[in-house]
Amino acid sequence: MPTDLGCKVDAAVKRYGLESADPVYESIDRGLLARWKGSDDRTPMGYRSLTEWFNKRLLKRVYDEHGRDSLGARVDSDYEALRSDDELVREEMIESLSADGIDAERVLEDMVSYGTMRNHLQECLNGDKAPQTAETEWERESIEVAREVAREKAERALSSLETKGQIDGVESSSIEVQIQLSCESCPTRIPLEVAVKQGYVCETHDQTPAASH
Ligand SMILES: [Zn+2]
Ligand SMILES: [Zn+2]
Repeated sequence: MPTDLGCKVDAAVKRYGLESADPVYESIDRGLLARWKGSDDRTPMGYRSLTEWFNKRLLKRVYDEHGRDSLGARVDSDYEALRSDDELVREEMIESLSADGIDAERVLEDMVSYGTMRNHLQECLNGDKAPQTAETEWERESIEVAREVAREKAERALSSLETKGQIDGVESSSIEVQIQLSCESCPTRIPLEVAVKQGYVCETHDQTPAASH
């Protein structure tokens, strides 16, 4: 929950001087809201891509301060390396940053998770995004199609097994296909519809190294 001191996003904005870090909007918060909602003919961004955008702004600011090359492509690839699952890749990047006088562990700690970004937009900024638009319909439809295809295939396989006498009662049963998402860091498992509705899979592990609030 945001406090008087603000959330972790606000703290990062203050600590790294990100108030004016949006190249288009006069304040970072305005920029975040506009990018999230898709104002001014932008394509609306989801929490995950917005969080990445924000964290990269933060990284770029740190690079500028330490005289490290901060071209977009460099920041992108460094960010990927810092977030890599491969420990060696991560360690190398941390070393490379520290050669430029950057405390990478600290920077990583100050980066935000997408749960934090969600709270910042919805609670700190009182943001309200328009409900699902047609643009997101096709994703729902393909999930439906995937489920239907899985159901049909299972049905055919089961009826073949029944013919072979390996299973009974297929005729009088029905198949239910549910797509589940599981967190890679804990036993959390939720149905896909729930994840889409709440906007995340696992509250605790919504993004790797950065802690939430
Ligand atoms: Zn906030
Ligand atoms: Zn988890």
